[in-house]
Amino acid sequence: MDYSKQFRVTPGSKVDLSQIDAGFKDQHESHAHALPEIEAYEQKLQELQYLMYAEGKRSLLICLQGRDAAGKDGTIKHVLGAMNPQGCTVSGFKVPTKTEAAHDFLWRYHRATPEKGQVAIFNRSHYEDVLVVRVHNLVPEDVWSKRYDHINHFEQLLHDTDTHILKFYLHIDGEEQLKRFKQRIDDPTRHWKISDGDYAERPLWNEYTQAFEAALSNCSTEHAPWFIIPSNHKWFRNLAISQIVAETLKTLNMQFPEPTVDINEIKQKYHQMAEESK
Ligand code: AMP
Ligand code: MG
Repeated sequence: MDYSKQFRVTPGSKVDLSQIDAGFKDQHESHAHALPEIEAYEQKLQELQYLMYAEGKRSLLICLQGRDAAGKDGTIKHVLGAMNPQGCTVSGFKVPTKTEAAHDFLWRYHRATPEKGQVAIFNRSHYEDVLVVRVHNLVPEDVWSKRYDHINHFEQLLHDTDTHILKFYLHIDGEEQLKRFKQRIDDPTRHWKISDGDYAERPLWNEYTQAFEAALSNCSTEHAPWFIIPSNHKWFRNLAISQIVAETLKTLNMQFPEPTVDINEIKQKYHQMAEESK
């Protein structure tokens, strides 16, 4: 199945999250059943990221959004696990610092975008400024409502300068979120992950749904598509995301750069050295 088609939000369409099954797992019965496919995409991802790094001409920005416990951290561990750390950066975005808040809302995100040849992963992103900010009225409506256009223009700029953008909304349902909150409570090694915020945000479930739907509907473009990833099953989420990232990198048709040295000359030198050391 081509998940980059299936889960892509068509530009201009109106998203209704209640119509999307968060527990979808395609034809796979279990993690074990999907494992060979997951591993094959990880391998592909590894090769293509190496090529991007070697080529050094374009870059990839992956944005992860989702409700609390949707699996943003787990996705990063998985996708990053398949990549060479030298070619990757990860940035997490929390409540803006005083300095960040003293700039325009895109400033802190722009600084974290990838250099040529690099992959950057955003754990939360510029979309927080039309999600948490909108739900909690942190700025007036006439300010946040303009941000969809600002975001589309920002992403167009990145695209025009060879940064490819993939945005993933990790879709879980209310039952799954509660299950994950319980796992955190039951497992002392996960207690550190619990924040007051998690429990404070849940009553605002519907307000967040509206804000997510607006972001997904207004900001899925040809050059920076949103994908809605069914994420109740963590392994399915990993499969879908690694497939989409790998397939996108493949379409970039990247090439290894020409060697900067005369390989024949280097070979001769090598053979000479090998002879002399006998
Ligand atoms: P976490 O990612 O779980 O460490 O939580 C980070 C917290 O920072 C979340 O509650 C976010 O909603 C919040 N946050 C991120 N960006 C912003 C922003 N631009 N304005 C206000 N809160 C934010
Ligand atoms: Mg959290």
